[in-house]
Amino acid sequence: MTELDAVVLGAGVAGLYQLHQLREQGLRVKAFDAAGDVGGTWWWNRYPGARFDSEGYIYQYLFDEKLYKDWSWSQKFPGQPEIERWMHYVTDRLDLRKDIQFGTRITSAHYDEGRGRWLVHTDQGDVIDTQFFVSCAGMLSAPLRNIPGIESFSGQLVFTSAYPAEGPDLAGKRVGVVGVGATGIQVIQTIASEVGHLTVFARTPQYMLPMKNPTYGPEDQDWYKSRFEELKATIPYTFSGFEYDFEHAWADCSPERRQEILEEIYQDGSLKLWLAGFGEVFFVEEISEAVSEFVRDKMRARLRGDQHLIDTLVPTDYGFGTHRVPLENGYLEVYHQDNVDLVNVRDNAIAQIRPEGIELADGTLHEFDVIILATGFDAGTGALTRIDVRGRDNRSLAEEWGQDIRTTMGLGKHGYPNLLTTAVPLAPSAALCNMTTCLQQQTEWISGAIRDLKADGKTTIEPTAEGEDAWVAHHEELANATLVPKTTSWYLGSNVPGKPRRLLSYIGGVGTYRQKCEDEAAGGYPTFSRT
Ligand code: NAP
Repeated sequence: MTELDAVVLGAGVAGLYQLHQLREQGLRVKAFDAAGDVGGTWWWNRYPGARFDSEGYIYQYLFDEKLYKDWSWSQKFPGQPEIERWMHYVTDRLDLRKDIQFGTRITSAHYDEGRGRWLVHTDQGDVIDTQFFVSCAGMLSAPLRNIPGIESFSGQLVFTSAYPAEGPDLAGKRVGVVGVGATGIQVIQTIASEVGHLTVFARTPQYMLPMKNPTYGPEDQDWYKSRFEELKATIPYTFSGFEYDFEHAWADCSPERRQEILEEIYQDGSLKLWLAGFGEVFFVEEISEAVSEFVRDKMRARLRGDQHLIDTLVPTDYGFGTHRVPLENGYLEVYHQDNVDLVNVRDNAIAQIRPEGIELADGTLHEFDVIILATGFDAGTGALTRIDVRGRDNRSLAEEWGQDIRTTMGLGKHGYPNLLTTAVPLAPSAALCNMTTCLQQQTEWISGAIRDLKADGKTTIEPTAEGEDAWVAHHEELANATLVPKTTSWYLGSNVPGKPRRLLSYIGGVGTYRQKCEDEAAGGYPTFSRT
């Protein structure tokens, strides 16, 4: 049995920084990760074409100017190998590796109320007795396996969420890809020119925006580094934790001006049209429809009038921005290639995977050498509900979240003292944020809460039932004022059968959320009980 002050679950963006901060406080702390090295999502998702949708220079940590400036990105939106190198750079600079145990999955964490401590077990036989259990497990780290027959396939089948570093050889092969979310899009546009034949299975169409991804030389790197102070003063306070924010009000603009603005920000080649266009797009049906139509027009033009492609790839039954908007690079054009087929599985679903390939409900069989599943995640809750987490009175987190997804500010849950969480529901870090912005803020808050607890001579911190009720009510009120809950996507847990429906992400804005967290701490933690 090992005795620690804190166990950190995960060695990705949040886990690394959390480990660093708690260690700096003098705590005995260790991080555990099932992966073979650091990186979290960027270690697991090594699929072809994986890259940021956030500008590299805003994805970096902002807590240390030198750490920030000593790293240089080669592109505006760097790819996975470069991101992984950056995470190694951070790990080495902060000397974190010695306190991380890789290849180790935490299997259970039980709270012992009498002792006020957590007992944590791992699949490697470790037993850890710890005061704090801090989850940095990521919001998209529990992959879905929702197609029957996966094991029966006689070719090679890979999940994008656990893509082997030496991936399958795709050259000249018959490849099937299931899923056209942000992941599927990146895979498809990357492998289409390499494979022999590509068949894409698409169910729900996605709005998407074309990425402009210039190479960065020394001048560009100097330019963004010179903005460090400005970025630090801006990014944490915007709606989405990006450097830009909503600048325009639909109501204040003439129809011509609206078109001009839409065109201008579309040309930026970033997520600006979604996160810094017209804020009303999230609230007002007619404005949502107008902006959606603008994006649909752009997509249709690229699909050159092909009705099958348009029907399968262009969304019509939900509004732009109510699902996660991916950036893409030549994705739609891929479908004009002779070696690419698009299969619409909305009305003729995938029934099963068989030894030869993928079979649809009507019995059609598509034969493959390789199948790539980009089928998504049990977001926000899945990472923790797949672990046997038990709080006071042996209550089970999986059971409680299986009935109702509740947290206090996404930082903890009533009934689970000294369980502190990042990237779980009811905080922006559960989906509506540049992840590093939100994960830095949450880990800093957690470190502060632990520091304050000790300074006050206390040992446990737990959200109160009333505080949690109030946060959930606030969250729901904000969510229901928008158009997002009128749709179905992983944002609402709709991709997981039986998952309680709730907008996973806090939609009040990153800056507003931060202020509420800061007020909570400055006010002596009124919605937490500390003993
Ligand atoms: P996703 O958005 O949930 O997409 C999963 C895809 O698989 C959807 O098209 C889904 O269709 C389809 N699918 C799932 N099960 C299926 C089935 N049985 N039959 C047919 N189709 C099925 O997952 P993702 O693409 O991995 O993306 C998840 C999130 O990760 C993104 O929204 C984004 O936040 C993040 N991400 C970020 C980046 C980046 O920053 N660059 C890149 C990749 C991912 P339905 O929609 O109909 O269920």
